[in-house]
Amino acid sequence: MIKKGEAGFATKKLRRSFHREIIYDIISSTDIHPTAEWIYEKAKKVIPTISLGTVYRNINILKEEGRIIEIVDDKEGRFDAKTYKHYHFKCSSCGNIYDIENPDVIQVNKEIFSNRGFKLEGCDVVFNGICNRCGDREN
Ligand SMILES: [Zn+2]
Ligand SMILES: [Zn+2]
Repeated sequence: MIKKGEAGFATKKLRRSFHREIIYDIISSTDIHPTAEWIYEKAKKVIPTISLGTVYRNINILKEEGRIIEIVDDKEGRFDAKTYKHYHFKCSSCGNIYDIENPDVIQVNKEIFSNRGFKLEGCDVVFNGICNRCGDREN
């Protein structure tokens, strides 16, 4: 027999993971590397009662679980469901961030680091420019 408290807890837990999956779907279904605010606007269409706090909380859990990554941006956090190594291109007109999939786009000479006794662990690169959507608008 399930006690009242236990059933309530189970329902809450289910609702929490449901919210999390909705948020994950939103992040993984776009290529613009959305902000938390953008994710919140989309999530509200599915779950009208959801709060921005809930969105932030679930984003943090998804990050902890390694299912999404946060991209370094000067203004605000941008989120990416592609967790493998890739590079980014940021449009200075619309602010969208796009994936650059070719991992050979930058050749890092590892000796530059090892010669100085530095242990190279990774490299965050963001290319800047105007994206195709914005370029089309100007022409
Ligand atoms: Zn653009
Ligand atoms: Zn990306």
